[in-house]
Amino acid sequence: MISVRNLRKAFGSNEVLKGIDLDVAAGEVVAIIGPSGSGKTTLLRCLNLLEQPSAGQITVGDIHIDADKPLKGQQKLIRQLRQQAGFVFQNFNLFPHRTALENVIEGPVQVKKEPREAALAHARALLAKVGLSGKEDAYPKRLSGGQQQRVAIARALAMRPQVILFDEPTSALDPELVGEVLTTIRDLAEEKRTMVIVTHEMAFARDVADRAIFIDQGHIVEQGPAKTLFTAPQHERTRQFLSKFL
Ligand code: ADP
Repeated sequence: MISVRNLRKAFGSNEVLKGIDLDVAAGEVVAIIGPSGSGKTTLLRCLNLLEQPSAGQITVGDIHIDADKPLKGQQKLIRQLRQQAGFVFQNFNLFPHRTALENVIEGPVQVKKEPREAALAHARALLAKVGLSGKEDAYPKRLSGGQQQRVAIARALAMRPQVILFDEPTSALDPELVGEVLTTIRDLAEEKRTMVIVTHEMAFARDVADRAIFIDQGHIVEQGPAKTLFTAPQHERTRQFLSKFL
């Protein structure tokens, strides 16, 4: 479902991703872990071209982007790729002046040109799915952070993406609100959705992800079945990193 080859990203002279190769199968849940500043968010943002890669190949579903060539000529493909790869941001990024329901229908109606009535029915069902029935008409500022993030997840699902990318989805939340968002993501994992999740929630990653990838200084240092990586890491750097969470 996702294939990345030799992905590189530099900000000025700071090379943040130094040749990442990554494959994610349909239905697989992959957790990306690693120290702060190691390039996790940049990798995720490059996957749907929120950040322009400096080099490399990215395939999501049947859309292929070649960052070794000018991206200017690939804008149509980039728009298609963004529809296939939903993105859930650390800070929710909801439209503040739109209700929960309006936030969820925005993409389907404006971008995919779905009929409004069908989009509304789908959005109501998605808000119910993330436990927000009755909050359809609430504006973001009247919702808790956990509720806002669940609206953001419903909004991503509304585009019927093939892949969902989560960028530290619980790191902006008060501790007591983390669980409700992780439960929602866990439910999606049980539906066998293809997901890539950058997270600092190690217990969650161990329990929910099929595979965990440890990134340090722009390289994939180690990857493997999540349970194995967390219980028996092979590399010293992975061991050192994980020891801080024990
Ligand atoms: P992580 O998600 O692992 O904490 P990031 O991908 O956010 O790491 O950042 C990796 C490195 O890239 C950091 O050194 C950060 O300062 C740098 N970086 C990220 N985004 C930008 C940007 N827009 N401009 C310049 N440098 C950036």
